[in-house]
Amino acid sequence: MPSSSSLRGSRIGAGPPGVPDAGSQELAPRTTVLFRCGQGHKMTLTFADEAGVEIPASTACRRCGMPAGWGSAPPALPKPAAPFKTPMEFLRMRRTQQEGDALVEQALQALRAGRKRPAT
Ligand SMILES: [Zn+2]
Repeated sequence: MPSSSSLRGSRIGAGPPGVPDAGSQELAPRTTVLFRCGQGHKMTLTFADEAGVEIPASTACRRCGMPAGWGSAPPALPKPAAPFKTPMEFLRMRRTQQEGDALVEQALQALRAGRKRPAT
């Protein structure tokens, strides 16, 4: 059975040989910002403290997808979309029941008149 020299002397969970332990490395400067959405969900995002890295005014909430902001007030919830209307509801917005009845009667008369025509 061949023995691997790279495994000799290593511990379980240790990184690849030659790479220092991550816990001993100094982390780059960073800023943690608390974001809140209109529904009260909170999340923290971490940004690098470097030139050119800008903290966005708002981002999407991880839980509900609504806009989340940081600072004093969370962004307001967007207005709910108009309720769904069926084609029948749109029709009733355009015409009254009497107008509809008159149109149906007119169409039936035209249909009956068409049937009375002699076949060609
Ligand atoms: Zn949310």
